[in-house]
Formats: sequence, structure tokens, C-alpha cells
Amino acid sequence: MKVLVIGSGAREHAIVRKLVLDARKDSSAREVFVYAAPGNPGIGMYATCVQIEVTDIERLLAFAIEQKIDLTVVGPEAPLALGIVDRFLAAGLRVFGPTKEAAKLESSKAFARELAERAGIPSPHFKTFSDPGAACNYVESLTGPIVVKADGLAAGKGVVIANTSDEAQKVILTLMEEHAFEGAGDTVVIEQFLVGREVSVMAFVDDSGYALMPLIEDHKQLYAEDRGPNTGGMGTYGPVDFVGEDALQKIRAQVFDRVLMQCRKEGIIFRGVLFAGLMMVDGEPNLIEFNVRFGDPETQVALELLETELLSIFEAVSDDRMNQTPIHFAADSAICVVLTSAGYPESPRKGDVITGIDASQDSEFVYTLHAGTRFSERSSDLVTHGGRVLCVVARGESLALARHRAYERIATISFMGKHYRDDIGLRE
Ligand code: ATP
Repeated sequence: MKVLVIGSGAREHAIVRKLVLDARKDSSAREVFVYAAPGNPGIGMYATCVQIEVTDIERLLAFAIEQKIDLTVVGPEAPLALGIVDRFLAAGLRVFGPTKEAAKLESSKAFARELAERAGIPSPHFKTFSDPGAACNYVESLTGPIVVKADGLAAGKGVVIANTSDEAQKVILTLMEEHAFEGAGDTVVIEQFLVGREVSVMAFVDDSGYALMPLIEDHKQLYAEDRGPNTGGMGTYGPVDFVGEDALQKIRAQVFDRVLMQCRKEGIIFRGVLFAGLMMVDGEPNLIEFNVRFGDPETQVALELLETELLSIFEAVSDDRMNQTPIHFAADSAICVVLTSAGYPESPRKGDVITGIDASQDSEFVYTLHAGTRFSERSSDLVTHGGRVLCVVARGESLALARHRAYERIATISFMGKHYRDDIGLRE
């Protein structure tokens, strides 16, 4: 069985590692050969990395045909938004991920908000605008905080929480007139600011049903105690203990059942991972956003807890067999702590030598995943090559034990400018 995983982050490292370790665990299982495009040095320990960019759909397709890839798994949102799944399906290839139309749940925030409204999903008040003047007029009547979002994909940077209407107007002009994110800001969504606690809920979804993964909490700010600028995510842990059974039922009934029913009503079949970012307000889920793929760094925790063979889930989803596919997660806790480079998130420095991540130090309970790393061209040193450099993932019977294992491991890893939050999993 040949599998191609598209992406180069720690999320894809977690996916590739799980596919390979699942196959190794069971000697009677089929052989699995994994390719990654473009991958990274950590992924290279488990898979053959092919230097094709994630958005180069024609080359990815040609590679999959030439190598007779049995299944392609798409990690990041950009190729999904470009329609990679439609292209692979049209060529008769098996691929895990939603079609371009279903991916609009992430690639257009206006589309997602409007569909959620038609579906009756609890959400903040919102309005969408494609005229900057009308958007500026609207915010004048509001008091802060005001949430202003670019409609399209902006690598997590298209959302600003403005404290005053003046500030909101400036953001609107930056997005709509100065085109800070090119076409992504031609339409903006202006939303009511919700106060609560965020939770990340991912589900494997196909046309027959869905299975929720353990609920996970991300820590988005750069510094401990949620201070500093927003990032792509500084660490996660799960399962969370602040969402009770009642609230979980509401998440199923009011968010997942409704969105999938509405999609079907509108002729959209969702297959892949659907991620709902929710704000829990007094025990009630409110939709912040949908993503149409595995979250990063949520996946690192979810896959550490997943006991079922990942490949069998991917296959079940592509055959619409989710409703007959039992999925099991361990009762343990898992944590993922992200190590970032100097200058992240504004201008991450590249080229700092990384030491102390020899795979021989990995164990069943704690290990390192690569994100922004590469081998130096001049030496064989592993060096930083992006903002989020590494993730340390650990598990334990308790969150405290998982935390202890993760931070003990982090202490042995060195590179200039190494930064991480020491309070992942400690939020009250
Ligand atoms: P991500 O990097 O999470 O994919 P994104 O660019 O898709 O980000 P959102 O998830 O919609 O944007 O918003 C980013 C963050 O802004 C959220 O995780 C949340 O903390 C905050 N946020 C967004 N909308 C609201 C809201 N209506 N009320 C309060 N906070 C919000």
C-alpha cells in the first residue's frame, strides 16, 4: 500500500509517524510505504520525501499516477482550497480530504458564517461586507471589542480584534483597500466578540456519519498566561476536562449534526476531517470557525491518543463506511508543546543549529516532531527553518505526568532563540 501525505509540518509528521508505527505494530498487517511532499527531516525518518510544493497540484497528481499511489492524504488547507481533491478524484485516485466546494467552510469565512446561519448553529452576530464604506459605517455604531475578519485564507493572520470602532475602520481599510492579504480581504466579516473558553473539536467525517476526536485546547498566544501576539498555536493538550457530557451532546447536535445536514441539503458532501473552533459560553457551544483539515497542533495530541489504525479510518472515510467503523482513543492524556525560533511570529530567524533531538531519546511516551527544520546545505547540521520549529509530544495516565515528560524532554533540546510556553495544559 503506497500512501502520499501532502505537507511539511509537525501535523504531517504526526500523520506519517502514526501510519508507519501502526503498520510496524502489527506484523501481519499489510506493508505501508509512505511518501511525503515536501515533508521535512523528521518525516524523512519514516517516509520518502519528494520535493513538490503543496500547491503544485499538477506535479503532485503526476507523481501519484506515476508512483501508483493508493491513497493521498492532504494536510494543509491551501491545496484543499485550490481543489486538489476534485482533481485527484477526477483522475480516479483515492484521496482523503474535502472537495473544493466543501473546503469553502474554511476558505471563505463569509460562506461558513452564512451556511452556519442557515443551519441554525449557535454563532456570534455577524455581517459581511464587500464595500469598505459600508463596513466602516457599520462599525461606527458598535462598541469594542469588534472582530474583523478577512473572508479568505490569510495563514491565521486575517483576524483582528479591534478595541474601538476607529481601530476597526483602520483594519477594514488595510484589508479592503490596501489589500494586505491580496484578494482574501476583498470581503470582510464583522462579528460580535464572544467571551468564553475555546475548544477545538475535530471529527472524521464522511457521507455515512462522523466520529469526534477527543476535545483539545490550544494555546494561541506567544507567552505564558495568554500574553503576547497570536500565533499558529503554541501547544495543545487533551482531552479537556471543562466540557461536560451535556455540552458535548450540544456540540454534536447543534454544531456537527447541523452543519453536515445543511451541507447535504445544499448538495455538498463532506469527506475528511472537519474541525470546529468553538467558544464555550456558560456551557453553550458557539461557532468561531470551521477548518476542513486536521488542526496543527491539535492533531499531534489526537493521533497520540488514537488507538485505531489510522489508515483504516482514511479508507473508511473514502468509502463512506464511517458509520460501521469503530474508532477508539486511549483514556490517557496527551500534550504537545511547540518550540519556536527567535523572532517568531513576526520574522522567524532561520539557520540556528539544533541539538539534542536524536531519535534515540524518543520513547513510547515522549518524542519530537519536526516542523520548521532542515539540514544545512554546508554541513549536515539540523537547523531551524521556520517559526514553529519542533513539537514535543508526550502522554501519561494523567495530564500532570504527560506535562512532566514533555518538559523534561524539552530541557534537553537546544537551539539559539529557542522559545516555548511553560504553561501548556495549566490554564484554569
Ligand atoms: P486560525 O489560525 O485559528 O485558523 P483564523 O484566521 O481562521 O485562525 P479564526 O479562528 O476565525 O481565524 O479566529 C482566530 C482567533 O480569533 C480565534 O481562535 C479566537 O481566539 C479569536 N476570535 C475569532 N472570532 C472571535 C469572536 N467572534 N469572538 C471572540 N474571539 C474570536
